[in-house]
Amino acid sequence: MTLGSSYAIASPLARGAAVCAALAAFALFPTRAAAQGAPTPLPADTAPLKVLDPAFIDRTANACTDFMQYANGAWLAHDTIPAAYSSSGVGRDMGDRNELVVRSVLDDAMAQRASQPEGSTPRKLGTFYASCMDSTAIEKAGLSPLRPWLREIDGVTSRSRLVSVIASLQVRGIDLVFRYSPDVGLHDAAHYMAGLSQGGLGLPDRDYYTDSGPSADSTRTAYLEHVTRIFRLAGEQAAQATRDAHQVMRLETELAKASLTRLQQRDPAATDSTRSLAALAALAPEISWPRYFRSIGLTVRFDSVNVAEPGFIRRVNALLRAAPLAQWKAYLRYHLVAESSSWLSTPFVQEQFAFSARFSGAKQLLPRWKRCLRETDGDLGEALGQAYVAKTFPPEAKARAKAVIDDIRAAFAERLRRLTWMSDSTRTQALGKLARMREKVGYPDRWRDYTKLVTLPGPFILNVARANAFEWQRVANRPGAPVDTTEWGITVPTVNAYYDPSRNEMVFPAGALEPQTFDASADDGANYGSLGGSWAGHEMTHGFDDEGRHYDATGNLSDWWTAADSVHFTQQANLVVQQFDGYIQVDTFHVNGKLTLGENIADYGGLLTGYDALEHALERDGRPGLIDGFTPEQRFFLAYAQSWRVHNRPERLRTRVTVDPHAPEQWRVNGPLSNIPAFAQAFGCKPGDPMVRAADSVPHIW
Ligand SMILES: [Zn+2]
Repeated sequence: MTLGSSYAIASPLARGAAVCAALAAFALFPTRAAAQGAPTPLPADTAPLKVLDPAFIDRTANACTDFMQYANGAWLAHDTIPAAYSSSGVGRDMGDRNELVVRSVLDDAMAQRASQPEGSTPRKLGTFYASCMDSTAIEKAGLSPLRPWLREIDGVTSRSRLVSVIASLQVRGIDLVFRYSPDVGLHDAAHYMAGLSQGGLGLPDRDYYTDSGPSADSTRTAYLEHVTRIFRLAGEQAAQATRDAHQVMRLETELAKASLTRLQQRDPAATDSTRSLAALAALAPEISWPRYFRSIGLTVRFDSVNVAEPGFIRRVNALLRAAPLAQWKAYLRYHLVAESSSWLSTPFVQEQFAFSARFSGAKQLLPRWKRCLRETDGDLGEALGQAYVAKTFPPEAKARAKAVIDDIRAAFAERLRRLTWMSDSTRTQALGKLARMREKVGYPDRWRDYTKLVTLPGPFILNVARANAFEWQRVANRPGAPVDTTEWGITVPTVNAYYDPSRNEMVFPAGALEPQTFDASADDGANYGSLGGSWAGHEMTHGFDDEGRHYDATGNLSDWWTAADSVHFTQQANLVVQQFDGYIQVDTFHVNGKLTLGENIADYGGLLTGYDALEHALERDGRPGLIDGFTPEQRFFLAYAQSWRVHNRPERLRTRVTVDPHAPEQWRVNGPLSNIPAFAQAFGCKPGDPMVRAADSVPHIW
């Protein structure tokens, strides 16, 4: 689930390879609503959501033909995606409600900032948000806040100076060339380790530079035009701007060709490449690494580093030696201005939005307060998270959500004990991993300390740079230090969850533990289908998907499988790949079965586990009668399908083919359900129905 643009460049210190989102805010049947004629008005943004809403069901559809349509068709027929969004549905509905709460926190902080003590976190929060909302000052300043940095780039006359300027811009949050990050050690998950990885591209994926065909050509042409316009806005003459844009394209294309694909990166072994500092120096001698590490603020000493993509760093070295200095300087100028554009004056904002809309399909900008709120949440999330929790997440809600998650854990353990294909030795390891899997529910036990963060009245982009530098300093010197197990990777109001294999933990923020995901007062059928299946069961299964299974109970990369069990897993996983390769994503593009494998295994395992947990809960608590005319089992599958109630623009679906490890929601529902006999039984589906796949093609994993 992403409320913003999922392909935006992440903080260089938040390498996401190990983190996986549960619920993507994307869609199905992209053109249907447009074809329906005049839409009915949307409900008010604050209308209560239900975990299972019978009004969304299309009773004219056949549940055994297309369950996604059956569960959500009536909603879809009347839905219109608002102009500022690339999708609508669960993610937007929940996000809108959360944002109203966050807004009230930020409005208070802004109004009261002057009366708060100097240096206090509430004052910093109010100052940060206020400087973002001050559009008058931002319009007046134009490009001027970036002038000192642009002069720094202009002043580069040597290769060594070039590396220093790259370092200083990286610390302020600009994604350039490669990324330094202290990650959890792959073979010592108790300690952080220094890491270097690929980065520095302006397009959302390396494939956009290397793909062939008219669609790829037109994206590259649009990108060249966009880069040219950014240079023009930054004051360059037309001919110079065109020349510089081609320089940027040339350099980025070289970086892209040396980058691993997303598919290659799914194999943890492919990015496991620890080497000594001497070996790093031999790999990339153009960079004085001791000087580079000093200039990004490192005071800690370490003697080895994981170079996730050595071939990429080798290419960077060759480019630092051979590419013209003018080409490098154009690349630096472009990235500085483009990555800052969203927080400069209107012409910059509009240019950045127009280009990103090519990938999202959004028709207009979000209102300023929403853009500022999301940036504030991203940069000072734990400063506002406490107030958010106080307003929305009572202890009873946390306790009930935790009880459902614990039921799911017990059901997963039972499935592990029952699996017939697994040897006892692998089973013991798997049960141990599950038992040690940490769960974080609601909000952090310890909130982040913002003492060292500086926020000042004045240009907002400078506050963003200060927040980036604060985050950099917070984590940069971690190599060798014990891993902070209390840390959260997403903020409290976020409508998302994740499993991190290096920490063997699953994380569910308060922002996701509300209707439509979960309602303490809803029936078990609904809650176990949504929170149980789509969320908790899904995240738990990630510990045992094609990526997660390579990590052990402590989070170390190690092979705890017998050879025969590995063979069985791979054979069954290949059936999942084949199943999803067969589905159409959008236009003539098929789903990428290998790229989406981990998510599809997690959906399938999550459903099976959630269903078991529901059956136990019914045995324990008693079976209710029909609710809205449905049995608890029917409500389980309906709530699961409604948790994927998403309507997406076609541009978004096209982008997702390349960048998203989640299949379109239509297949996240119909795919796993058509493998599950209990689903067929609940809705009376027969062999031969589209929602009942032939037994010999059904995978058996978890
Ligand atoms: Zn997932």
